[in-house]
Amino acid sequence: MPFTICFDIGGTRIKSGVIAGDKIVQTNLSEVKDNSALQPILVKLERVIDQYLAEHKQTDQLAGIGIALPCFVDSKKNKILSHYVKYTDAAGLDLNQWARNKWGVPIALQNDAKAALLGEAEYGAGKGYRNLVMLTFGTGIGSGVMLDGHLLNGKDYIAGNLAGHSIIDYDGDLCNCGNIGCTEAVASSWSLPHKVQKMWAAEDQQELASVELTSFENIDFKYLFDQAAKGHQFYNKVLEDCLQAWGMALVNMVLAYNPDCIICGGGIMKSHEIIFPYFKKVLDQHGWINSEFVELKKAEQPEYAALLGMNYTITKPI
Ligand SMILES: [Zn+2]
Repeated sequence: MPFTICFDIGGTRIKSGVIAGDKIVQTNLSEVKDNSALQPILVKLERVIDQYLAEHKQTDQLAGIGIALPCFVDSKKNKILSHYVKYTDAAGLDLNQWARNKWGVPIALQNDAKAALLGEAEYGAGKGYRNLVMLTFGTGIGSGVMLDGHLLNGKDYIAGNLAGHSIIDYDGDLCNCGNIGCTEAVASSWSLPHKVQKMWAAEDQQELASVELTSFENIDFKYLFDQAAKGHQFYNKVLEDCLQAWGMALVNMVLAYNPDCIICGGGIMKSHEIIFPYFKKVLDQHGWINSEFVELKKAEQPEYAALLGMNYTITKPI
């Protein structure tokens, strides 16, 4: 049976898998210690591919290699357009030639958020929908858009990809991208410690005397949801502010793309029973649309959506 070998390169980890048909038959996770260049990572991928092939009986059945990357990617030419701050050499690498020379197979490259959307669209929560938005709440907020069954690219392949940087507070905090008031700057894992610190400082300190506090830099969304669930008013206020910010991003995505369904992924979705009703409330509060306009679904492939999306790209090119 033909199979693919697919990778999802993240900031600190590389996920990989052997996929036959629509089944992931083998997976591997390795750490990335140095993100300064992609070339050394390719050497690592070569070792993983050769290891998989050594274990696989029918190596001539390898249909292709897929790589999802945290970069803007011209997925038609398999060219990395804008290097992620960490992979300064990526734009100059010819990965088509790399895969042809090493294993005699085609390669598919894709932005990681778009790959995850494709994976969910074909093998997960998005099955059967033609118009999809996916938002992944992680360190930042990743996004992808599918309209009429096709991934949205735009001139520079950034269309639909930057929901995390949609501006929801033009007078707000500086984002890591250089803009002011991006959704990520208001509510994401990387900006949360600063947000909590700022909101803490603005509170009546006497009222906060009984509130539990870990060091600000250790605060993550799990901590926030846990503390809010314990009924701490301060943490509920922070959480509500985050939910409101994400709700705004959601409204912006619905107004821009008019999807059938928004798939939400990322660790915070363990708390979808709190998040989705809040999102619906925000959608109902805004003009032109309401919560009946769009379905909200939790990602069904939280671990391997990007790998599955790359497998789909190789086996059924769009
Ligand atoms: Zn930004």
